[in-house]
Formats: sequence, C-alpha cells, structure tokens
Amino acid sequence: TLPQTRRPDLKTSLPGPRSQEIMARDAARLSTSYVRPYAFVPDFGNGVWLTDVDGNTMLDFFAGIAVSTAGYNHPHIVKAITEQAGKFMHVCLSDYPQEPTTLLAERLLKHVEKPGEPWRAFFGNSGAEAVEAAVKLARHHTGRSHIISTLGSFHGRTYGALTLTGSKTKYKRGFGPMLPAVTHVPYPNPFRPPFNSTPEHCGDAVLDHLRTLFQTVIPADEVAAFIIEPMQGEGGYIVPPMGFLKKLRHLCDQNGILLIFDEVQSGMGRTGKMFSFQQFEEYGGVQPDIITLAKGMASGMPISAMLAKESVMTWPKGSHGSTFGGNPVSAAAALATLDLLEGVVKHPGCGDSLMDNAAQVGAFMLAELKAMQGRYSFLGDVRGKGMFIGLEFVDAQGQPDGKLRDRLSQEMFNAGLLNLDCGESVIRVSPPLILTLEEAKTGLEIMRRVFERQL
Ligand code: PMP
Repeated sequence: TLPQTRRPDLKTSLPGPRSQEIMARDAARLSTSYVRPYAFVPDFGNGVWLTDVDGNTMLDFFAGIAVSTAGYNHPHIVKAITEQAGKFMHVCLSDYPQEPTTLLAERLLKHVEKPGEPWRAFFGNSGAEAVEAAVKLARHHTGRSHIISTLGSFHGRTYGALTLTGSKTKYKRGFGPMLPAVTHVPYPNPFRPPFNSTPEHCGDAVLDHLRTLFQTVIPADEVAAFIIEPMQGEGGYIVPPMGFLKKLRHLCDQNGILLIFDEVQSGMGRTGKMFSFQQFEEYGGVQPDIITLAKGMASGMPISAMLAKESVMTWPKGSHGSTFGGNPVSAAAALATLDLLEGVVKHPGCGDSLMDNAAQVGAFMLAELKAMQGRYSFLGDVRGKGMFIGLEFVDAQGQPDGKLRDRLSQEMFNAGLLNLDCGESVIRVSPPLILTLEEAKTGLEIMRRVFERQL
C-alpha cells in the first residue's frame, strides 16, 4: 500500500524572494513562457499539494493542465520511472521494439476495442504530435484532404494542429498561412447554443449547418475527417448535448468521413471513464475511428498516443514516426498510471481505482458547485463530468465576464488554491485524480469564501 497524502497548512505569502529571483532570471533568458498574472515556482509535490521554493504550500486544482493524474511525485510512478531508467532510457521505437510500449499499446487498446474490431497504437511525445499523426493518417487512408474542426477547439500549436485549433486568434496571428482545406463549425455548447437554437437542439443545428456546407461549399466526398473533443477543454470545459456525437457519427458514416476524437485533455480517466466519449454510452454509445491521447497518460512524463482502428491504420510501415516518440521511461510511467487508473494498484482513500475516484469525488464537487450557483448569480453555469468541471462566470446580463473570472481566479490563488482559466470566462476544475473527498472539500471551501466576498 502507498503512503497517505499529508495535508499541510496553507500559506499565502506569494511570491517569496526565491520565487522572485527565479522569475527575474527567467524573464531575462526564456522565450515566452508563463502568461499568468500570478507566480508560483514549485519546489516539490506531495500528493495534491505543491510547495514552492519559498515554502508556500498550495492545494492543486489544475494538475499541470489536466496532466498530473497521480499528483506530482507518486511513489508508484517514481518507482516505475526509476526501474526503467535503470534498464535503458531510449532505443528509438521507429527502429526497435521495446516492451514498455508493447505493453502500453495492449493495455490502452483494451479500453477501446470491441469484439472483432482490432485497433492499433502509434506513440508520440505530445498532444500536438498525436493530432498531427491523426490528420496525416486520415488523409492517407481516405485519399481526401479536407478536415472539419470546431470553433473553440484546441488541438495544439504545431502547424497542422494549430490550423485545426479554433480558439483564440493570438495563436495564429502572424504565423500564417495555415494548412489548406480546414473548416471550422460551431461546437454544440448547450449554455450558449449556436445558431439561436436551444440547449437540447444545438447539436442538431450544428449538424444541419454541416449538411448545408456539404451541399454548398465542401464536397463531402473530399472530407477526410471530422476532429472533435468529445468534451471541449480549452474552449471552456463544455459537455455537448447527449446524442450529438452519435448523430455526428452517423453523418460521418453516410459520407465516408473518419471521426477523430481528441481526448488529449478529457481522456485517461479524467471524467470518470477511460475516455470521455464513453460517458455517452447509455445514450446509445459512439465509437470513433481515431483517438488522440496525451496529457494525463503518464502523470507528467511526456508521451502521447494516436489510436486507430486496424482497418484505418493503413499507412505504410516507416511512413510516419519520430526519434523520441514512445519513450520507454515515459511508457513505464504510463503503465504505472494505468495501474492506478484501473485499480490494479490502489491509492489509499481513493476507492477502487482512480477512475472510480474521479467519478465519485467529481460528482460530489459538481453537486456542491451547482448548489453554489443558486447563491452566486455571477456563477452562470456549472458543468462537466468527473474531475472535468467548468465554472462559467457571467455579468448581470448573463454575458461572459472574463475580468471577474480573472479576479476570482487570482483570489483563489492567493487563498492557496492553484487553479486555471479556460474559454472566455471559465475556471476549470481539473485536479489530480488522487484528490480525496476531504481535499475536495478544502478546495471548495476556498472557492466558497472567495465567492462570498464577491457578493
Ligand atoms: N488537444 C487537446 C484537446 C488539448 O487540450 C491540447 C493541449 N491543451 C492539445 C491537443 C495539445 O497538446 P500539447 O500541448 O501536448 O501539444
């Protein structure tokens, strides 16, 4: 069994002298890095707690952007990394097989394969690389060029992935031209339904728009793939209406278009199931052709995966790859992360498995935050699943209030809660999946106190 996480007292004097010194040196030598108004220079982690170089300890509700599944230095992950590093750190998966990635492929694919429908895995280093691989595969397999993506989406910042990204223009300004043959359609956001539709029918409205595009500007038989986050991350932690993905699947099937689910942020147990699209199973279920994964896969070690149906993974051997992709030390960390997610190794205080914990503690947090909505009118929407929760802040007219969000985010930070914005006026709740009920209550209490002061 693993040691219990400690719960140190929260201190709030930030940034201290050592943090300031490191930040000043960074400012002099690094390219653009952190853009947050506040500063935190970590020294060491302990479960869901992070201590900075000046000795301030914070409770973590952001997990390094939904990455640190098992916290920052989980003993089971550290052991796996150390053991693999002691054997070999690299051979190059493009040239030689290595057991950690073999095992990882087998274990990951188990979560998506259906009887009679085998899948295969490709490993990279980052989310953007997984997305690039998915787009290349989709074009190669279909012989078509066009890709449809969604507004508000984030798929990465390398050229292909950046082209697909449908959020802030600052990501693209000055970097063009982008990849040709990419079109964005609105994401079905029930809180702000596109095309003046309703929360229930916003998915249908998006699909109608897509049908119109197919009849007017984009020949459907030139479309290789539709890429979508089954739950939109950077765009604001948005859950589409139930049944939308299934209807999208149907439209793709009718037109020979591949469906890519970008699970980089929402996958790996974060919503309480291995992949977020599996949350829609009770509504008939939906299966993509390609899945992209990264972030939470290895609790902080860099690795990504592009999973595809065997019938789709048809590019010739050696046509795509990279030097570092599928690093064995990262793969070992990913296997250890899967141990915890699946409950092969239990984490004390976290139920049967971390997936189970994300579902249970996440449901508790969602209910508590929804209850707060009644008291705080500026809390316009509370949504999500498991430990993938978005809080949207609004002004008196119900419009997104980014300034208020920024202020409250800063206040939460000052009170000892590491948190992160997304979308126009959203704070995401994406803690490490080892967050216990007691720790969740501590974080929610900090939020409640910040909201109360705002009344
Ligand atoms: N896809 C999604 C859904 C993401 O959220 C992100 C990162 N925020 C990416 C792709 C890109 O991942 P990376 O930063 O590792 O390239």
